[in-house]
Amino acid sequence: MASLPILSSAARPGAAAGAARPTVERILQGARPSFRAAYAHVPFCSHKCHYCDFYSFVDSEDRQERFVIRMESECRAAAALYQAPLQSVFVGGGTPTMLRPNLLARTLSALRESAGWGAGVSAGPGEQNASGTSSQPREFTVEANPDTVTEEVARVLAESGVNRVSMGCQSFHPHLLKALERTHNPESVPLAVERLRNQGINNINLDLIFAIPGSSLADWEADLQAALKLEPSHLSCYGLVYEPNTPLFLRRQTGAVLPIEEDLEASMYELARSTLASAGYGHYEISNWSRGEQRCQHNLVYWDNGDWFAHGPSASGHASGIRWKNVPRLTDWLESDPWSLVQDVESLASDARTGEAFMLGLRLIGGMELSRVAELLAQPGGARREAAIAEALSSGLLERSESRLRIAPHALLVSDSVLCTLL
Ligand code: SF4
Repeated sequence: MASLPILSSAARPGAAAGAARPTVERILQGARPSFRAAYAHVPFCSHKCHYCDFYSFVDSEDRQERFVIRMESECRAAAALYQAPLQSVFVGGGTPTMLRPNLLARTLSALRESAGWGAGVSAGPGEQNASGTSSQPREFTVEANPDTVTEEVARVLAESGVNRVSMGCQSFHPHLLKALERTHNPESVPLAVERLRNQGINNINLDLIFAIPGSSLADWEADLQAALKLEPSHLSCYGLVYEPNTPLFLRRQTGAVLPIEEDLEASMYELARSTLASAGYGHYEISNWSRGEQRCQHNLVYWDNGDWFAHGPSASGHASGIRWKNVPRLTDWLESDPWSLVQDVESLASDARTGEAFMLGLRLIGGMELSRVAELLAQPGGARREAAIAEALSSGLLERSESRLRIAPHALLVSDSVLCTLL
């Protein structure tokens, strides 16, 4: 997500300079949101990986139960804002599957009911619901680390109506997992996939990371083949990012870690594109591939600039041009019940919303319809963006067909440089 201008505290709805932080309820007053999705952040992890800049930690105080009671309260409050049913609920982290099974079940039940999906098992895309009547597509995703997917956890996920699991594999090479400070064994991935499938969860995403220090093109090819052997419905492939303020970033600065060459990283990305295309996966977003139509509905809400609610510490939400981030400390979030205190709030003025619409729309491989492009260019800032588009077209970074504008395939890895000029 691109960084957007943060309003000064004086300009924040409901927050005078120096005043206490507003709550989510306060900043949404008068916003008329139309929530299509909800994201819930579970911050617990068994270990902090040195490349990770998500809010997650090893909880020495065992606050899992307090976390769940607080989440249940927030779900009841948020349900009043929804025009249910929602299209998607995504539980991420952290490691949601680290919650003890009874607490995981309670969390999923609270989220499912607030989404308007009832107490029964929710229906997935293209399925029928428990009563046999047709249902709207509903995607209920939980992120998991492979070694946390026990038979009991897989059963809890299925019984709670989860119909999609996104698993952080990252690599199938022990030495590369070690370089990332991941603690699972490669063998735990097929085992977790089998346990999920035994419970009827077939929509499975595998996350992979390329450009890990010390990795070769052959390593990456083997990772892709190992992932394909498991026949996931979806694959996300990200180049390793050296996020500021992470231990990995500092290690790169001191020379303790050497990034791989840019040319090698580009070759890895191209290898992913050709290998996954040959295997029948459709490339639909810069870092995402799916089999058939099994795209991530939740991310499509983000990329479509839709409204989603944010549960949990550090989670970010979006409603009618207002983007907010909940307080990032678990203690602060636990104390602000049922509405989270807000750490940052951004009200996207018209120009910023236009820029964001370009940035999100062009991340999709199919790009944007020209009619939509024309609509956006008619907004303030249109002349500047039109010039940027003309320059990117002439340098070959963008390409235009009869009906669409998109990032040229060879420029996908450097798409940020184009997208920034359109913000
Ligand atoms: S398991 Fe995932 S969320 Fe937890 S520290 Fe590692 S990368 Fe971050």
